[in-house]
Amino acid sequence: MSDERLSRRRLLQSALVGFAAVPAAALLPREARAATPLSESDPAAKSLGYVTDARKVVAATNPTFKPGQSCANCIQYGGAAGAAEGKCTIFPNHTVKAAGWCKVWVPKPA
Ligand code: SF4
Repeated sequence: MSDERLSRRRLLQSALVGFAAVPAAALLPREARAATPLSESDPAAKSLGYVTDARKVVAATNPTFKPGQSCANCIQYGGAAGAAEGKCTIFPNHTVKAAGWCKVWVPKPA
């Protein structure tokens, strides 16, 4: 066997070992991965002022907030009517609480 064939074999073996080390979940399309509940301490959530309960919104620091606004009536929310939580297009790997709120809230069209 030539050195060239040997090195090709080694390269292939290394590639296979590397492929095996990739977690299976990383190979799934984003939509197929299980979404986890969004935490208020998540850096992205914090930057947008996400809270799991809109009643906890501090109006002084969130002047756009109006009582009655919540994820359930936000255009970004994809949860089923009456569900406690659902997907949000702003946080694609997470679910948000229907009663939650963040600074990106935009009303759902009537
Ligand atoms: Fe809730 Fe809308 Fe903010 Fe998503 S964008 S977290 S649905 S208020």
